[in-house]
Amino acid sequence: MENILMDILFPVSACNLCREKGRFHSRRPWCEKCQDEILTAKTSMPVCEKCGKYLTVLDGTCCSECRDNPPEFKIARAVGPYENDKLRKAIKVLKFLCRRYMSVKMGNMMADVVIEEPAFWPIDIIIPVPISKGNLKQRGFNQSELLAKQIGKVLKKRVCSNLLSRVKETPSQRELTKEEREENLLCAFKVTEPDKIKGKNILLVDDVYTTGSTIKECTRTLMEAGAESVSVITWAIGTGY
Ligand SMILES: [Zn+2]
Ligand SMILES: [Zn+2]
Repeated sequence: MENILMDILFPVSACNLCREKGRFHSRRPWCEKCQDEILTAKTSMPVCEKCGKYLTVLDGTCCSECRDNPPEFKIARAVGPYENDKLRKAIKVLKFLCRRYMSVKMGNMMADVVIEEPAFWPIDIIIPVPISKGNLKQRGFNQSELLAKQIGKVLKKRVCSNLLSRVKETPSQRELTKEEREENLLCAFKVTEPDKIKGKNILLVDDVYTTGSTIKECTRTLMEAGAESVSVITWAIGTGY
């Protein structure tokens, strides 16, 4: 009887990250082996004290980019490196296979990183990085908003999805150089109600931090609107030197 009930509630399917057969659902979207791999992916590498990028060369406490051009956010951290197959796959499954339930486990793990790092605190409100209208229409949801909502649930903080909006449609950033990306993103975001941003300590949420251009521009926009501080949590982050 118990097995029949289990089959109905949690039918046997495949791990979302390695396809191993088992019972995979919102609270357990991937297998133990993949979970271990995600948790150990980060432990062997040093990170930039400021932006959280994994460093290939450790020369001081920050990456070269943060040293040359310190970002306006207080701190940025991620669950693990974007170079890791499993971390990258999780984003793909959430975004492109539209398995929204992935955001529960991912959000929980992101919240754990925030809880464990004192530099994130205090936090007043949580804001997801907005996606373009085109992507929103195509996908039907903003993956960063789903992650933000789960993080808000765990941290018991309000998620304000509409305070930051994307006012400029930015074509795919993939082919652009760093300078072109920054140029492209300039004034791409707008605070809709500055009163609600003023004096607030904001936790900004995105799925991935690669060049950091988008996150830095969002931070700049929020700080310009009078935010007290901005800290950043993403699921995965790239490497620097
Ligand atoms: Zn697996
Ligand atoms: Zn850095």
